[in-house]
Amino acid sequence: MSDATPPEPIEDEATRLASLITEIATELMGVGHGDAQAATDLSLQRLRHFFGVTHVFLRRHDLLRRVSILVGDEPPREVIPDPDPLYEVPFDSDPVFAASEHMKEPMVVYPEQSEDLDKRLEEASGQPQITVASVPLVRGPDTVGALGLVHYGMRFWSDPEIRALTAIATLFAQMWARLDAEQQVIRQAYYDSLTDLPNRSRLVEDIDRLPSERRASLLVLDIDNMKVINDGLDFEAGNNFIRATADRLRQATRPDDVVARLQGDQFAILIRDLPPDHVDGIALRLVTDLAAALDIDGLSLARSISIGVAHNSVSDSNGDLITEAQAALHQAKLRGKKRAVTFDATMRSEVLERFETELELRRALDNDELTLHYQPEVDLETGRILAVESLVRWNHPTRGLLSAGAFIETAEQSGLVVEIGDFVLREAIRQLSVWSADHPELEMWINISPAQLMSRDLPEQIGELLTEFGVEPYRICLEVTEHSVLDDIQFTKGTLRTLRESGLKLALDDFGTGYSSMKQLKNLPITTLKIDRTFVSGVGTSEYDSAIVDAAITLAEAFGLTTVAEGIEQPEQITELRSRGCRVGQGFYMARPADAETVTGLLPNPIELPELATLNGAG
Ligand code: C2E
Ligand code: MG
Ligand code: MG
Repeated sequence: MSDATPPEPIEDEATRLASLITEIATELMGVGHGDAQAATDLSLQRLRHFFGVTHVFLRRHDLLRRVSILVGDEPPREVIPDPDPLYEVPFDSDPVFAASEHMKEPMVVYPEQSEDLDKRLEEASGQPQITVASVPLVRGPDTVGALGLVHYGMRFWSDPEIRALTAIATLFAQMWARLDAEQQVIRQAYYDSLTDLPNRSRLVEDIDRLPSERRASLLVLDIDNMKVINDGLDFEAGNNFIRATADRLRQATRPDDVVARLQGDQFAILIRDLPPDHVDGIALRLVTDLAAALDIDGLSLARSISIGVAHNSVSDSNGDLITEAQAALHQAKLRGKKRAVTFDATMRSEVLERFETELELRRALDNDELTLHYQPEVDLETGRILAVESLVRWNHPTRGLLSAGAFIETAEQSGLVVEIGDFVLREAIRQLSVWSADHPELEMWINISPAQLMSRDLPEQIGELLTEFGVEPYRICLEVTEHSVLDDIQFTKGTLRTLRESGLKLALDDFGTGYSSMKQLKNLPITTLKIDRTFVSGVGTSEYDSAIVDAAITLAEAFGLTTVAEGIEQPEQITELRSRGCRVGQGFYMARPADAETVTGLLPNPIELPELATLNGAG
């Protein structure tokens, strides 16, 4: 190898440089995280031999911390001091490194051009004369690193060589960009973006990987009454509360324990190698410790938590840990929240029941066991039936007619709810078209599940059904819950807008029970609030319920929405609702949900209601 000039070209220089680039490109393009370092080292080695230089290095810039980090060094230095002064160098500490921070063009420094550099390297190598070719790694507007070729003595660099080095530097920059993107995808697939904790998929994999003979326990934690925070404050406060809780859980656990976020306000902790009673003790302690108030945006907020615990020593199978801990959590909530409950065999029947219901539901769909009932919505002054709400029913072969409440939750968890929803939409719209001849203004109100609302095809699907059955869009009102709208409001808002623009009406169901803030509602394209029956039941008797009903009606008026009161069971409630300005109601007092034939008989006549304007009050 010559000292001052490149070796005599055997082939044309351009051809040799081109094949060098191809070789390095091939080497770098296929690598993943695991073999990136080896490929980098190999490429640097190749560069050193090809160009016949003493030393080749590659540095990566950390733009946030403003430091340059050594990622490859060829040949490796024989003695590396500890700490290594070359490993991480702040840009501000050295003029040469400072120059490399924003360097955009390659630069060659020949001997005696830079005294500073000569001195630094002489100290490092004992060699007085050096040539340094330094090529920036550029990605977009940023300089993300530097490739350096150092030669002890004079080494002339031709323009084609520098162009080739520039191309190779780009290959490194591309490899990093690609690896970063891959890393990002992995993070998104396995980590929750709000808290940075592992997500459910990651937890499931961790559990799957556990050897079955290894002791393991799972805690599933749920924040009690989280909606009050989202209600009273706003979504950001809720998010901050979730984040702060995640931090607390991390601090309260050992580094070996896996803390994951399952969904919403639900977390899990996987604990290995501890005896079950020890873990039960940890759960109890968490219930107490986590009840202490947190400082959120300057406010002191406290929520209790409920915990379900499962041990693999009970289930003999890691696969059931999540289901069992969740069944135990369910018990904790039923028994009054703010407590920890450990799964035991008596809860197994609940798990099995849910599993069975799921299997049976699938069969029900195939066997046409589902049917619709309809419940009138009535003008609270005239008693006229303005609309009917469709409510799905299951004609169960052994258990009889089941209400939606008995199986909709299972259907939602299993995804079957989308198929059920398809059936409901078609059947409800078909039935409305049958009623149209005698009742051309009657409306059909249809419950839409969160999963349906997340489907891109919903507006089109409904559009097609309306055309098929010749029904005008304004006669259909879709009932959605706050929960389903707010879970992914950016997306659902778009869907709701499309539905609204096509002329459908939209109602917010069970209003008052969800966790929306009034602020958010204003931005939703809805037409009606359905006031939840828990508040309707106390209207006029409970101060709290009355206040919520009043608030809902005032709010609706301010936004130009109508209100419907759900679950009216007493005549006094009608009087109270009328006086507060609510014009439409629904409930067992007027009519229970019934099959199409029964409802056909109700439609022609007004439903009898208490006298209007009873001056002496009711009862
Ligand atoms: P929802 O939409 O709020 O429906 C009202 C529920 O309250 C119905 O129960 C109805 O039978 C009951 N109800 C009506 N009036 C009264 C009353 O005066 N007192 C009392 N105590 N209850 C009353 P159901 O049919 O069991 O439905 C429960 C929930 O299941 C519904 O709540 C709705 O969210 C969901 N659901 C029903 N049908 C469907 C459907 O086709 N698709 C979807 N996705 N969800 C449905
Ligand atoms: Mg409803
Ligand atoms: Mg409701």
